[in-house]
Order: sequence, then C-alpha cells, then structure tokens
Amino acid sequence: MTIQSIDVPFEYRHTCWFCGEPYYESFIFRPEPDYAGDLPVKVPCCEECYGLCTRTKASGLDVLRDRVKARLHRKYQKHLQIGAHWTREELEDSEMEGKAFEGFKESAWKMFEIARDRVNYTGWPLAIDGQPVGQISQAFQVEYHGIVYPNLAQAVEQLAKTYAIPEDYLEQVVELVGRQQLGFAIRFCKTTHGYSEAQQAASLASLRERLAEEAQDAKPTTPSGNTQQGIEVPLKLIELQILHRTEVSPYAVQWALRHGVTTLAQLAEQEDNFLAYFSQDSELTAVLYFTGLQVYLEKRALDPQWADKQDPNRQWFHKLNQQLK
Ligand SMILES: [Zn+2]
Repeated sequence: MTIQSIDVPFEYRHTCWFCGEPYYESFIFRPEPDYAGDLPVKVPCCEECYGLCTRTKASGLDVLRDRVKARLHRKYQKHLQIGAHWTREELEDSEMEGKAFEGFKESAWKMFEIARDRVNYTGWPLAIDGQPVGQISQAFQVEYHGIVYPNLAQAVEQLAKTYAIPEDYLEQVVELVGRQQLGFAIRFCKTTHGYSEAQQAASLASLRERLAEEAQDAKPTTPSGNTQQGIEVPLKLIELQILHRTEVSPYAVQWALRHGVTTLAQLAEQEDNFLAYFSQDSELTAVLYFTGLQVYLEKRALDPQWADKQDPNRQWFHKLNQQLK
C-alpha cells in the first residue's frame, strides 16, 4: 500500500507537526475508523508525540492532534499551571529563599513556556504534493489565558485542577453560562462559599435565577417571529458525530433542537439567526457548525432508517417531533 508523506515546508524541516519540538521519526497515520477511505500518511513527530501517536486511534489527523494535545496537557499540567499562578516578573522579583526555591525560580518560567508553546503549537497547513488535504478543524478549541485547549471538556478538566475547583461543579457552571464565559465561570466558582454538595447546589440555584432574570430582561429584543418552539437539551447529553469527514457539533445540534429545526429547509430559513448566534464565538466556527448541521440534517433526511434507529441523538429528535405535533 502506498504511504504518502505530508509536505514539510523548508522552515519546518526537523520539526514535530504536533508540538514544534525537534523531529525524531515520522508516524504512519492510518485513520480508524476510516470514513473516507484515506491512504495512510506519514507525519513528522518528536520522540514524545511519536510515542503518544502509537497509542492513539483517530478518524482524522485533527482528531489525532487533539488527542495528542490532550495527553500533553495532562502530562505537563504542573508546568502549565505555573502561568496561572505566577507572572514572570513575580517569579523574578519574588524573595523566595532557600535552595529549593532558587531552583524553582530558575526553571519554572522556562518549563511553563515550553509546555505552553507545545500545546499551543498549530503545525503547518497539511498538503501532499502541494495539494491541501482534509479539513483540519479548530472548531472545538478553547483558549483561556493564552493557553489553547483541544476542546471544552479538556479545558474544564485542566482549569478545575489549576484553580482547585471541583470539576463537575465548574462543568455545571460553564454549561449554564456558556463556553464564551469561561473566565466568568472560573471566577464564579472561586468565589463560591464552599464546595460542599449543598453549598454548590445553592450557588448553582442562585446563578440560574440570575440568568433567568437576565433572559427575561433580554426577551423583548430577541426576534421570535415564526420560530418553532423547540426543546432544551443539556450539551453533555448530545453526542458529537463525524459524518462524511465533517464534525457535527453538539452546540449546533443543541441550537437546532432549541429552535425546533429538524429539516434543511427550516435550517435555511434560520440561517441568519444561526450564523449571528455563533459568530459571537468566531465566524469560522459559525460556518463550520452550520456546515456540520447541514450534513447532519441531510443525512437524517436521506436515510430515515438511520435517523430513526442509529443516530446517537435520535431520542431528542423523537422528543422534539412529539412536541411539534
Ligand atoms: Zn511533538
């Protein structure tokens, strides 16, 4: 079987595509599962990423990249946390004494920068013999305080550790306020009066109340018009899917369910609303989400059998259709 190599621009020779560290070996990537029947492809790796790749299955190179990054995040979380707790100036000025602290001061910022640059590294655009390959999606990435996380779940996991917040608590707050409000969510959790179950529940209840009040105030300005009434489904109950090499974002599916959108025609009618809503995030994300949702609704329309029996999110569409009747 032919194995293709990805093009390596001159300035990236001897560089790992995943993290930018020095080259060690090319990893032969075989998509698993292979949705598009792609040929294996060789990707330059450093020693560490090579090791991580050999232990990771993925259907596409961007999925593989995100999984490698997630492992780097976990492995170097102590180093990455340094930047959350210190600034370079604070470290330099700090009057910490004793041999152990001297050593820490010397190396801490450097270790942080190395880890940060590796997880943030974006690689170079993928091409084979000059032809761009695949879509390398960044739609799921989340940036917080100058560090890029491969997805929201990973960000929540790492940031909960960094700020000593119970992870499921941070997750619930993020779910309430939305992924654009990660900073608010962290501050909210940090100023919560205690983390016992009862205290968390009370804080969540008051936050919910506050958001409901805000939503009430905002209502007259949001266009309702001819939108169908939909259902509200928590994000974590919506499965991420990849169809025809296109990611179908749970955020997009959640939006569709919320607005009672079940067909391509309804989506076309709501296109402006959809794009306006997600462009707050980024325009590219909005377009990627839209495309993913189109692919998904088209698949549901063309393959009713699949929609009814196999679609991992079918229960929500059943529920929505019941309601729309
Ligand atoms: Zn690497």
